[in-house]
Amino acid sequence: MVPITSEIATFKNYINNEWVDSDSTKLLDSISPMNKNEVVGRVQNSTQEDLEKTVQAARMAKENWRKMGQHARGQFLFKVANILEARIDDIAETMTREMGKTLPEAKGETARGVAILRYYAGEGMRKNGDVIPSSDNEALMITKRVPVGVVGIITPWNFPVAIPIWKLAPALVYGNTVVFKPATEAAVTAAKVIECFSEAGLPEGVLNFITGSGSIIGQGIIEHPQVNAITFTGSETVGKGVLKTAADRGIKSQVEMGGKNPVIIAKDADLDKSVEAVISGAFRSTGQKCTATSKVIVEADIYEAFKEKLVQETEKITVGNGLNDGIWMGPCASESQFNTVKSYIEIGKKEGAQLITGGEVLQGEEYENGFYITPAIFENVKLNMRIAQEEIFGPVIALIKVADIQEAIQAANNTIYGLSASIFTSNIASFLKFSDEIDAGLVRVNAESAGVELQAPFGGMKASSSGSREQGEAAQEFYTEIKTIFIKG
Ligand code: NAP
Ligand code: MG
Repeated sequence: MVPITSEIATFKNYINNEWVDSDSTKLLDSISPMNKNEVVGRVQNSTQEDLEKTVQAARMAKENWRKMGQHARGQFLFKVANILEARIDDIAETMTREMGKTLPEAKGETARGVAILRYYAGEGMRKNGDVIPSSDNEALMITKRVPVGVVGIITPWNFPVAIPIWKLAPALVYGNTVVFKPATEAAVTAAKVIECFSEAGLPEGVLNFITGSGSIIGQGIIEHPQVNAITFTGSETVGKGVLKTAADRGIKSQVEMGGKNPVIIAKDADLDKSVEAVISGAFRSTGQKCTATSKVIVEADIYEAFKEKLVQETEKITVGNGLNDGIWMGPCASESQFNTVKSYIEIGKKEGAQLITGGEVLQGEEYENGFYITPAIFENVKLNMRIAQEEIFGPVIALIKVADIQEAIQAANNTIYGLSASIFTSNIASFLKFSDEIDAGLVRVNAESAGVELQAPFGGMKASSSGSREQGEAAQEFYTEIKTIFIKG
């Protein structure tokens, strides 16, 4: 741990509307992936006792928040949106320093956070139930959606503004109180997001923020008897643990995990557009999106032409410090991500795939203490290779050559995951077949695998997700329970 100096900002937990220090005297450093000697900020290394206070705050606040009503709760989110909007530049810069995505991407993500808040603020004025005909024509039968209670929110580092907000905003508008633990790798950015909620003046205890290790605070939230539901986004290993514990406790859970997202390039695809979309899908955010493109399955007739153009365009990508103009791709977000990506490059080579470009660690003064690697493309990848099966979460493409669309769809489905998948084709029959047969929650035609819109359901099939969908009006399913109410005069 780097010695504590006064210039480095320290962020506290937010419990019962107060910023408080943890009971422990230790702090956790958030390190910049652009320079491992730069500490972006420090956060609390919280204890079980801190967690207990956090959960009790949320529990105590739950009745009044529920009683306030959906319309009034929505009004708070409009305020948070305005505050976040005024802080986009500061928060985006923090995000770039903390986890490396380029500044324009970080600004785009923060602006998306604002839009998500406004969407759910609007939910405050939308319906939360139905009228159902009763067999008794003198009775009224309705459903009403009510809050679940205290919701535990655990998030990853790759979208440190958007993911917390797409969980916090619906949790709050539908009347739940929250215990939120962000990824330690991006906890400073998350603390700044919580500052925006705090400035909006939510009632005491409605939103509580606690930082600390996944195995203590994360696990503690999941196991806590007064937490009524858990929403988690992160790795498959931790996600499966969340599911088991939630099932044992008989509580609701929603878990978003990994992906191994395929893109099919049919022989009738537009070459320029498909190359551009594959590059954006695979290498934006340094490949660290759960919807990032990682298997590119190409029909033999177009394979050589596609590969040549893909390599040519990939080699133009500028890698470096995401705060600088002209940089297209930043570093891997942390030393452990950097090591994982390097190890998969070696695994791919050992398995017999050919690395045709990239995969090099950048040398030289400006890269010296950062986690920079150039975007990599492998060819001659067989479907059973680890680089074709496992989520790398880095800037690595596996090229797979196939004879026809049938074989392409089989290759695309040959994975335990099912988050996002795309096809590039101008043939209606091919895209109809693809959208029917592909096992993915997000199906994209002539568009990159990594685009999502906040007003549409988000989530995957197979090992990618469990529980109901996030975002859009689909989020209501997780954050509410249904009461069926029968009324007779
Ligand atoms: P991770 O290691 O699973 O961490 C996610 C969160 O869980 C962090 O807040 C972490 O805290 C916490 N955590 C760690 N161990 C825990 C435990 N035993 N109990 C409870 N919580 C625990 O994942 P990550 O490395 O941050 O994120 C990368 C992964 O997220 C990738 O696999 C990616 O595919 C997935 N992802 C999925 C989606 C999606 O929507 N499907 C979106 C984005 C990312 P600490 O940070 O303190 O360890
Ligand atoms: Mg970091």
